[in-house]
Amino acid sequence: MVLAQLGGSISRALQQMSNATVIDEKVLNECLNEITRALLQSDVQFKLVRDMQTNIKKIVNLDDLAAGHNKRKIIQQAIFNELCKMLDPGKPSFTPKKGKPSVVMFVGLQGSGKTTTCTKYAYYYQKKGWKPALVCADTFRAGAFDQLKQNATKAKIPFYGSYMESDPMKIAVEGVETFKKENCDLIIVDTSGRHKQEAALFEEMRQVSEATKPDLVIFVMDSSIGQAAFDQAQAFRQSVSVGAVIVTKMDGHAKGGGALSAVAATRSPVIFIGTGEHMDEFEVFDVKPFVSRLLGMGDWSGFMDKIHEVVPMDQQPELLQKLSEGNFTLRIMYEQFQNILKMGPISQVFSMLPGFSAELMPKGREKESQAKIKRYMTMMDSMTNEELDSSNPKLINESRIMRIARGSGRQIKEVMEMFEEYKRLAKIWSKMKGLKIPKKGEMSALSRNMNA
Ligand code: GDP
Repeated sequence: MVLAQLGGSISRALQQMSNATVIDEKVLNECLNEITRALLQSDVQFKLVRDMQTNIKKIVNLDDLAAGHNKRKIIQQAIFNELCKMLDPGKPSFTPKKGKPSVVMFVGLQGSGKTTTCTKYAYYYQKKGWKPALVCADTFRAGAFDQLKQNATKAKIPFYGSYMESDPMKIAVEGVETFKKENCDLIIVDTSGRHKQEAALFEEMRQVSEATKPDLVIFVMDSSIGQAAFDQAQAFRQSVSVGAVIVTKMDGHAKGGGALSAVAATRSPVIFIGTGEHMDEFEVFDVKPFVSRLLGMGDWSGFMDKIHEVVPMDQQPELLQKLSEGNFTLRIMYEQFQNILKMGPISQVFSMLPGFSAELMPKGREKESQAKIKRYMTMMDSMTNEELDSSNPKLINESRIMRIARGSGRQIKEVMEMFEEYKRLAKIWSKMKGLKIPKKGEMSALSRNMNA
C-alpha cells in the first residue's frame, strides 16, 4: 500500500525535525514542505494540502511559544490534528439500527468495486447479527445481477433482481418492499455505474434515490483514481446526498491520498476501506488510528481489537504478557515468524503494528518475504538457547555471528541483516512495555494513552 510510503515520508520529516538542535522557522518550514510534498505525491488535492500547511503555521507560532514548551510535540500534534481534520468531516455517518429497516444505497463509477463492496458491507453486518438483503438495481451492465447473486449466495444473504426488467427504479422499489415485508433490517441497493460520468447515470441515480428514500447513500471510490477523486466525489454529491464514503482497493498500488480528497468533496466520512477481493477483506475505518498509523505512531486500538478478535482466547494472556514485558527476544521473533508462515491469525494482528507486516511482508511480495523469513529461521536454528532467550543485542558478538553463519550455511552479511531486522522489531515491540491488558470496550482509552 503506497500510503505506507506516505506515512514513512511524514514520519521521516518529523524525525528530521526532531533531530535538529533548535527548532526555528527554517526547520519548521523544511518539515512542512517535506510533508506537503509527500501528500501531493500521494494524490491529495493541492488546495487541501495548502490549507493544511497554512493552518499548521497559524497554530504553531514559534515566537509565541513560551520557553520550556516542547515545540516538537506541539508541531507533531498540530500535524496529527490537521490530518485528522482532513479526514473527519465533523459529522458522523448514519449507522443502521438492528431490528429497524434501513435502506442503504451504493453509488460509484463502474469498476470502482461497488458490487463487491455491497456484499462485503452486508456480510460485515450479518456477522454482527443484522439481517441484511441485497437488491440489484443495476440494469445497465450485463452480468451485474449474476455477480451480485453469486456473491450473495456465497455469503447466504437474500437478494433481489431481474434479468428481464430494465427499469432500475422499479426493481429497487420492489426489492426494498419485498425485504421490508421479510423484516430485513438492512436493505442494500446496488445501482448502475457507468464508465463515464454520463448525465444519464446521475439522473437514474437521483430517481432511484427518490423512489427508495435511502437512509444512507454510500459513495464507493477506487483508491487508485488519484487526483480525480475530488471532482468525481463532488459530481456524485451534487446529484444525491452522499452520507459516507468507502474507499476500495487500498491493498493495491494506489496512492490512497485520494481518500482524503473524497472526504473533503463529499463532506462525509470514510466508513470502511476495501483491502482485497475477498468478502472479509474489509476494514472499519477510524480516523485517529489511521492517522496514527500514517505518522508511524502505530494503530494501538486496532491492534488490541485484533488481538481480541483473532487470537484464540487461551493464547491471549500469554501474548499480552510478553508484550507488556517489552522484552523482545529472538525466540519471540522465531515464534512470530512461525505464525506468519502459517498465515495464522497472529500475522493479521501484527499487520497492525507499524513496521511489522508492511515492511517485513509487503503485500504482493509474499513469496519473497516468506523466503526471507525462512532464511532467518534457518539461521536462528543455529543459535544457542542463551542467544535465543536474550534480549541483549550485545550478546551476539562477531564470533557468534561467524558461528551462526557457518552453522546455517549462510553468509555473515545475511546473519547481520537478520539481526538488524531483529533490532528493528525489538524497538517496535518495546513500545508495548507496561501495556495494561484491557478488556473489550476499553480500547479507545488505551489508544489515547499510547498515542499521548
Ligand atoms: P463495480 O463495477 O463498481 O460494481 O465493481 P466490481 O464490484 O465488479 O469490482 C471491480 C473489480 O474490483 C473486481 O474484480 C473486484 O474483485 C475488484 N475489487 C473490488 N474491491 C476490491 C478491493 O478492495 N481490493 C481489490 N484488490 N480488488 C477489489
